Amino acid sequence: MSAKDIGRVTPMMEQFIEIKKANPGSLLFYRMGDFYELFFDDAIEASKALGITLTKRGKHQGDDIPMCGVPVHAADDYLQRLIALKYRVAVCEQMENPAEAKKRGAKSVVKRDVVRLVTPGTLTEDRLLDAGRNNYFAALARLKAGGQDGLATYGLAFIDISTGEFFVTSCDLANVGSELTRVEPSELIVSDSMLNDPDLAHILDRNDGSLTPLPKAFFDSSTAEKKLAEFFRVQTLEGFGDFSRVELSAAAAAVSYVDKTQLGERPRLSPPSRQHITTSMIIDAATRANLELVRTLSGEQKGSLLSTIDFTVTGAGGRLLASRLASPGTELSIIQRRQKAVGYLLSQTGLRLDLHSALRTAPDMPRAISRIALGRGGPRDLLAIRAGYEAAANISHLLSMVDRELPKELENVLSAIRALPAGLGELLDKALLDDVPLLARDGGFVQKGYREDLDEARSLRDESRKIIAGLQTRYAALSEVKSLKVKHNNVLGYFFEVPTAYGNRLMSEPLNETFIHRQTLASAARFTTTDLADLDARIANAANQATGIELEVFSFISEAILSHAEILKSTAQALAVLDVSLALARLAEEKNYNCPVVVEGYDFEIEGGRHPVVEAALEIDGAESFVANSCNLGPTADNINGQIWLLTGPNMAGKSTFLRQNALIAILAQMGSFVPARSARIGIIDRLFCRVGAADDLARGRSTFMVEMVETAVILNQATPRSLVILDEIGRGTATFDGLSIAWAAVEHLHEINKSRALFATHYHEMTVLQDKLPRLENATVRVKEWKGDVVFLHEIISGAADRSYGIQVAKLAGLPGSVIVRAKEVLALLEEGDRHSPSTTLIDDLPLFSVMPRQAVLEPVKDHPALLAMKDINPDDLSPKEALDILYRVKDLVNQSEDFS
Ligand code: ATP
Repeated sequence: MSAKDIGRVTPMMEQFIEIKKANPGSLLFYRMGDFYELFFDDAIEASKALGITLTKRGKHQGDDIPMCGVPVHAADDYLQRLIALKYRVAVCEQMENPAEAKKRGAKSVVKRDVVRLVTPGTLTEDRLLDAGRNNYFAALARLKAGGQDGLATYGLAFIDISTGEFFVTSCDLANVGSELTRVEPSELIVSDSMLNDPDLAHILDRNDGSLTPLPKAFFDSSTAEKKLAEFFRVQTLEGFGDFSRVELSAAAAAVSYVDKTQLGERPRLSPPSRQHITTSMIIDAATRANLELVRTLSGEQKGSLLSTIDFTVTGAGGRLLASRLASPGTELSIIQRRQKAVGYLLSQTGLRLDLHSALRTAPDMPRAISRIALGRGGPRDLLAIRAGYEAAANISHLLSMVDRELPKELENVLSAIRALPAGLGELLDKALLDDVPLLARDGGFVQKGYREDLDEARSLRDESRKIIAGLQTRYAALSEVKSLKVKHNNVLGYFFEVPTAYGNRLMSEPLNETFIHRQTLASAARFTTTDLADLDARIANAANQATGIELEVFSFISEAILSHAEILKSTAQALAVLDVSLALARLAEEKNYNCPVVVEGYDFEIEGGRHPVVEAALEIDGAESFVANSCNLGPTADNINGQIWLLTGPNMAGKSTFLRQNALIAILAQMGSFVPARSARIGIIDRLFCRVGAADDLARGRSTFMVEMVETAVILNQATPRSLVILDEIGRGTATFDGLSIAWAAVEHLHEINKSRALFATHYHEMTVLQDKLPRLENATVRVKEWKGDVVFLHEIISGAADRSYGIQVAKLAGLPGSVIVRAKEVLALLEEGDRHSPSTTLIDDLPLFSVMPRQAVLEPVKDHPALLAMKDINPDDLSPKEALDILYRVKDLVNQSEDFS
């Protein structure tokens, strides 16, 4: 290659490089025929991420160009994997066919352009999405000194492009994190000036979705209103409600990001709806994680509260349930309205089952509408709307037949269904077949009789096909080649095929007057004839015509659907509400939940409460059943504020379970669900805090103790008398007396300053004396029984303080070596003698350290154990199975009787 060649860039590469430059930060899927190709570093990265072969194509400046590719028909799968790995992909399509490019000159490159940026927060394809979960992206805006107190305010806008939902909210710095974890966006958009802001560092760090910094201009609040008005094609935003400046800034950044990623295609977004932070219970990230609301601490959905209570049957219902769980309400009227619907459906078993089966067939209408609006829809999306109509009609019929007055929530469902335009339903009925292809261009989805011209084109096409089938017999006879077949492919169209051996005969006189040679392959020769070619052309024309008409029908119906998008979406929302109400009624029935009484005061009285997830797990195990426990943190006769329960008790007794179950009952109650308790009376909780144990957060540079203290600080600074605080063993991660002092002071602060309702579990028995000092503090403990030196857990919460921790017994149950247990008992006895102030001195003086004890001594209790002696003279090879089992029973008896091992 000459030096000149080395510097030369092919026109195609030139185009690639230009497009790549315009789309930094994304892998470029560059369409070439039936493949999306990736080049250079993109190819190296994608081949590694996807495990596909890295090849090369030509040279660039003297070096091989790395390349890899994915077939267009399988592109969704690859996209899904890349998005899961937090990549962004720019999809670049051919904007003309190669023939058009050729018209501009033999060497012209096909025009290409990026038609869409695929990012984790802007997906619309069902295969890339979880049906039961929203997929939001969030834009976070900040207005320095925007608050009344002169502090910064933050605006958050959330958009789910796949359903069109659009919410805006604002808060101060302290609540940004909890708002973000409430919505769990899969992508967070911030102005690049915020990236290195220390105030936001812990929030951006905690964000699990991908982080997309954008230039400041996206967030410009002075142009925000105009941008939004343009996006929604309205003169003024007044009709949408009142928004603060920072909310407008966030909302405008969000719609600009929609434009940036969808490149001109407009999704059908609902107008922004303002969520006020006080209308839902504030639950911070640590509390959500500790309570395992939507996933367990190990990250799985199974075993979470959501997976235990989710009986919804539609995607939209699943999403609504998840969002109610993420934001339990604080408005009494809404909670009570939801409860009434659940109660009504619970009492009407027949109706409930009928509604359930009608709903099962309801498709995901919002997602279908979004795809249609973005030009990514297919006939199956149209069919989804038709199926939605059918489900709605059945549900409307069922709800209108009831003889009791419907509760408001269900009355609303009925009204939404009744608002559906009948004309669209009829159109869908008349136009669509029941079984339709994925893509509109494949045709075959419009019903016969809907358009005359389509029927004509189709019959012309089908008749010609029949005539062609007839030609096979005629030309087989004429050529005397019995194996002559009519075949079709995309390159040659229709042709006759004969085995190669007969090829010459057809190419020689007299047959060559009839047969026109097209192609010879190793095993076959291919020919056409004038009448076959004519018919082929007629079929191709008719087929093209039919496809053209079907595409017309497709866009006509799509337009009709989009012109009613808002009504269709509110019907879909109504069906989701129905799904959630039915699901909660079924939950209440199957798991024996009861309707809580939710009130405005500070009450918290749970009778016979259970932990929904632990109870379900025990049911599956079948070994023991859950022990219900009551809890009363409500006001006392002489004080309107709630109380604190200080819970001491053995390890493994069920303290954490009890603490969490009360928090979960509160969440379920405020989301409008029934609760796992015989009865419950709960004064609305504004914030819920839950710290259960402490975990290292080394990735974020914090130790166990630091995490614990930061989280405790948040609680003591933010909890109000309306809050519920759950603290499990804070102060564990440091020296005993430091930990005890911090726990002590924290309880006093909660009691005197925060005045919150609280449950506080601790192993610091010393704290139980607080009951005498703090009037609203009660001691509680978990009952256990001691039996033959072992501890038996009764899981029953009673008032009073625990006598001790039984830690050593629990350690024994966990399988710690017998020698360690013996030694621990000795150490404990010594400590309990009273020298707690300088335990180390005593240990050094009176007991040899474990590590310097002679090995013999450590093992001694085990060596002469009767169980071992009993086995000494046994030869296992001489034993029958029965004898072996007898010996096993004997050994077990000896172990049970043994003093050494208790
Ligand atoms: P630790 O102090 O060691 O953290 P803990 O007292 O907090 O222990 P939990 O973790 O709450 O104990 O409970 C231990 C186990 O006991 C649970 O995994 C559960 O299986 C069982 N358990 C807890 N509460 C109950 C209950 N009310 N009924 C039946 N089983 C229960």
